[in-house]
Amino acid sequence: MPDGTCCPDCGAVFSEGRWHWGECAALGPAQTCPACRRIREGAAGGILTLKGEFVRAKQQELLSLIHHQEELEKAEHALNRIMDIAVDDDGITVRTTDPRLACRMGDALERAYEGALEIHHDEDGFFARVAWERA
Ligand SMILES: [Zn+2]
Repeated sequence: MPDGTCCPDCGAVFSEGRWHWGECAALGPAQTCPACRRIREGAAGGILTLKGEFVRAKQQELLSLIHHQEELEKAEHALNRIMDIAVDDDGITVRTTDPRLACRMGDALERAYEGALEIHHDEDGFFARVAWERA
């Protein structure tokens, strides 16, 4: 992929071997970035679940922590993003484009609120399932 390739969906720019945030040239080469492709295909790289009584009580606070972690991660790694967030009676489920972001959120939850954190990586390292629970 040539340097300066721009993702038409999110505006990330490819250069020096990776995607990052930058300026898209109006008539430069365009190609959908891997993160937008994953979002379109619904192919999550990480799934984080939050469960327990505490999650129901502190839903808004936990959602802001999740969004804050995404902002921090995304600033440095343009491809690491939230795909979607589902909230139901069971708790909160967050799908991310990258396993690392789901792990980062799990670590931040444990740091801030203790609780029980479990992280399972696929053998190839391309997918992580992260479960956090607090009663
Ligand atoms: Zn994109």
